[in-house]
Amino acid sequence: MRTITCDAVIVGAGPAGSMAAKFCAQGGMDVILLEKKAEIGAPLRCAEGVSKSWLDEVGIKPEASWVRADMKGAIIKSTKGTSYQLDESKAGNEVGYVLERHLFDKALARDAANAGAKIMMRTACTGIIREGGKIVGIKAKSMGEEIEIRAKVVVAADGYESQVARWAGIDTNLKLSDIDSCIQYRMCNIDVAPDYCEFVIGSAAPGGYIWVFPKGEKIANVGIGVAGQLCTGKADAKMYLDKWIAEDPRFKNGQILEIMGGFVSTCPGLDSAVDDNIVLVGDAARIIDPITGGGICHACRTGMYAGKVLSECNKTGDFSKKALQPYEKLWRDRMEDKLFRNWMAKEKLATLDDETIDELIKLIKTSDIKNVTVYNLLKAIKEKFPQVVEGFEDLI
Ligand SMILES: Cc1cc2nc3c(=O)[nH]c(=O)nc-3n(C[C@H](O)[C@H](O)[C@H](O)COP(=O)(O)OP(=O)(O)OC[C@H]3O[C@@H](n4cnc5c(N)ncnc54)[C@H](O)[C@@H]3O)c2cc1C
Repeated sequence: MRTITCDAVIVGAGPAGSMAAKFCAQGGMDVILLEKKAEIGAPLRCAEGVSKSWLDEVGIKPEASWVRADMKGAIIKSTKGTSYQLDESKAGNEVGYVLERHLFDKALARDAANAGAKIMMRTACTGIIREGGKIVGIKAKSMGEEIEIRAKVVVAADGYESQVARWAGIDTNLKLSDIDSCIQYRMCNIDVAPDYCEFVIGSAAPGGYIWVFPKGEKIANVGIGVAGQLCTGKADAKMYLDKWIAEDPRFKNGQILEIMGGFVSTCPGLDSAVDDNIVLVGDAARIIDPITGGGICHACRTGMYAGKVLSECNKTGDFSKKALQPYEKLWRDRMEDKLFRNWMAKEKLATLDDETIDELIKLIKTSDIKNVTVYNLLKAIKEKFPQVVEGFEDLI
């Protein structure tokens, strides 16, 4: 069997893996980035919405090729029809882009390659190699050939379905209530605002929301995420989405160009995202916003943190769990409280009826919120409806 050696092997060329590969390579490491699919970023499994605020933080400059649409704001709607339009003046950098995600992911992988990472396409990790109990690399199938990649450290960047972490003995299991199932249509010939992202909350999407993210004139990603155990009868995500579309005249002449489905984890993160000679990043580490299901920025941040920490570890050759603690500290300091707060908010939101959600949107409309963020929205809610934030009021 062919054996390849390197300093770090990174499994998965999504945003988390490519960012980790770039920062490891920039830190002087010999890096291999594996992708099991034949094309990075495809098939699409994303609504493609991101805010702009974090791009600077991770050193990504917007490129015309992957910014599909620049949003002026967002519209938050209740199932009963009350809506709140949020404009750039109030949302600032929280207003976002709708991406061409397949081009975005390729651009990040290109940056990793430019930094010196080696990319192996159509190469699926199939297991972990241990010697004397220690992780020393991975097994993979590369273009049909069984190979071994020996490395000082393995980075699990293999997304929601991550197996690498499980093979390494790290518990990444999710409670049913911390999984949202999603379906999305790319719809054309629809009458939606081309520069506002729309979110619909309430019984139209139990435990989640419906989104309409424009991709230009009369075309948008129209999707839904629901918590399966809150759906009534035999209804599933598709039935809820189809019903909502059928009842909205803006979609009367709409046609579907593309359908995709997927799952997002909505938990507050893992107890530990590292072990001896292994680091988990992005969705594989369950680091994704539990209320929005947005994970691209978390994937990029954790990838960057992992790359920087691994570069330091490479100087001493120590990739033990203890030596990897700076990675735990970096992501937890930046995101852990927010993940927990938004997880609590998600749990509460799922218990509210449509009337209460309507009241909350009316309250937000009349509140003098200077800069609309999830935090500031929760702050306004805390003042008028303290029961809604009971249990996590200290984080607001
Ligand atoms: C329906 C849906 C809509 C979403 N909408 C948004 C949104 O609008 N905004 C947002 O911010 N987030 C959104 N997300 C979440 C976002 O897509 C993820 O958080 C993000 O992709 C995580 O990046 P990642 O690099 O951790 O994982 P991924 O992007 O999933 O990348 C993992 C990569 O690993 C590869 N891989 C897996 N196993 C192996 C293996 N054994 N060997 C080699 N390669 C492997 C995969 O092929 C994949 O390319 C959405 C998710 C879903 C499901």
